[in-house]
Amino acid sequence: MENSEIARIFHEIADLLEVKGDNPFRVRSYRNAALVVEGLPESLRTMAQKGAEGLMHIPGIGEGIREKILEMTRTGRCAFHDGLLKEVPQGILGILKVSGVGPRKAAVFFKELGITDVEGLEKAAKAQRLRTLTGFGEKSEERILKAIKDLRSMSGRANLGAAMQYAGAFQDYLKKIPGVTDCIPAGSLRRWKDSIGDIDILAACDEKAAAVMDGFAAYPDVRHVVSRGETKSTVMLNAGLQVDIRVIEKKSFGAALQYFTGSKAHNIALRDRAKRMGLKISEYGVFKEKSGAWAAGETEEDVYRSVGLPWIPPELRENRGEIEAAEEGRLPEMLDVKDIRGDLHVHTNESDGACSLEEMADGAIERGYAYMAVTDHSKAVGIAHGLDEKRVLAQIKRIDEFNEKLKKRGRKFTVLKGAEVDIRADGSLDHPDSVLDKLDCVLAAVHSGFSMSMSDMTERILKGIRSGKINILAHPTGRLISSREPYAVDMEKVMDEARKYGVALELNSYPDRLDLNDTHLALAREKGVPVVISTDAHSLRHFDNILYGVHTARRGWLEKKDVLNTRPLKELMKLLKRK
Ligand SMILES: [Zn+2]
Ligand SMILES: [Zn+2]
Repeated sequence: MENSEIARIFHEIADLLEVKGDNPFRVRSYRNAALVVEGLPESLRTMAQKGAEGLMHIPGIGEGIREKILEMTRTGRCAFHDGLLKEVPQGILGILKVSGVGPRKAAVFFKELGITDVEGLEKAAKAQRLRTLTGFGEKSEERILKAIKDLRSMSGRANLGAAMQYAGAFQDYLKKIPGVTDCIPAGSLRRWKDSIGDIDILAACDEKAAAVMDGFAAYPDVRHVVSRGETKSTVMLNAGLQVDIRVIEKKSFGAALQYFTGSKAHNIALRDRAKRMGLKISEYGVFKEKSGAWAAGETEEDVYRSVGLPWIPPELRENRGEIEAAEEGRLPEMLDVKDIRGDLHVHTNESDGACSLEEMADGAIERGYAYMAVTDHSKAVGIAHGLDEKRVLAQIKRIDEFNEKLKKRGRKFTVLKGAEVDIRADGSLDHPDSVLDKLDCVLAAVHSGFSMSMSDMTERILKGIRSGKINILAHPTGRLISSREPYAVDMEKVMDEARKYGVALELNSYPDRLDLNDTHLALAREKGVPVVISTDAHSLRHFDNILYGVHTARRGWLEKKDVLNTRPLKELMKLLKRK
């Protein structure tokens, strides 16, 4: 079991307990555990090899949860979770994936109308039975039907974070099989696409492919083998992800890597180019068209060089002008994780984060950051324990004192005073100006009322920008990759206004968000709207998600100069001036 699977089970336990109406503190401890596990850089399976001892020092994990982790890494099951599933109909978990339906609503549907799955919910909404419940009306039925439609259109794909974890673990395993000399996940994963259909792994080997195929099928996390050939096999993992593996001769590894990395559109354009040069590119190599003689194929660089191009980074291979740019020597200078100097979207346990201000600051310092903005939620987000005016003022005082302490200790690190303030349905902000004016870094975001018309939503966000009180528009389209479509908003208008008011747009690195997406980022770059890459960290390990943000930015052709939090603090503060 990989970390993401364990985290999912903890989330489910929290959901199931909440549906049952269990103690909120108990619910919260499982939610926190899920957050912590999700962000761990090391595999719990590896850590648990030393027994409970190996799991002793994970912050936020107590004894009861530690035992469940041990059980899951050893047996692949959690008896407590299994027990809950017997008490609460399993279909209810599906209902919780419908955007806008939380455990409390699901419990009402179950108890009042006997609804136990998404199909039942859909039927009830269509039969106008939901409106018989207190607090529900015609509008809520419409919203739920739309959310069910969204959910269906998105299932069957994994988010980038989960896919990376599964592919990484599989890769580590394959590398240990004797005879395997190289092993790389290709496909959309290597291009860091925001959602992944299945995982493609290429292995180079110097011995018989059959041995590799045996090892592949024996991977402990395989649910069943879908197909098995001499050089290509497909398996289904326990988590429901499909993995294809291809065994390639060393001589063709570069050509195969290029071919199976895609995208299809990029490869077609590249093949056309080769054809014009009298060459033929296939997964086996580059060949002279007339004589059939082998021209290149051992490395990807060789393949690109054979058609007169420099190597093109996988994130750019979408046939969006990268071949022309490569030819003319104007490929973007690729952004690097090391270019990021601070995180401007961080939550603490004052709202819905798992760690204290001090713990988060330590984590940011450890990463080599120079600054971090604490941006807890405002009161409108009741579920996240959002801060009212009084609590913000108290937090400001604490941050000032903390910065003073850091200074005395000679640390070159600054905590910026911030907030993630809600843009209410009418476009007003959820903190008074008197509070906002005291902050260094104000994020504004939409967290509810997603189903507005495009013109209303655009107007709502424009009003927030025009307040002159915000620095950054957080997760600008509100999408959740596994469950919620972006809300309807005119992004061009938002960008134009943002530039006028000196507001930056966020690229939220959370793997289920990656919002803005690659095409919006390209548009922002074209329009000269600055971008901030943040993690929206709710626990220490979420800082690592910056990797997904940086690679998504690369897909949007962003360079270091386009990203505000690559600047030193002094320069950043000048740029964060509100107009
Ligand atoms: Zn948010
Ligand atoms: Zn946030």
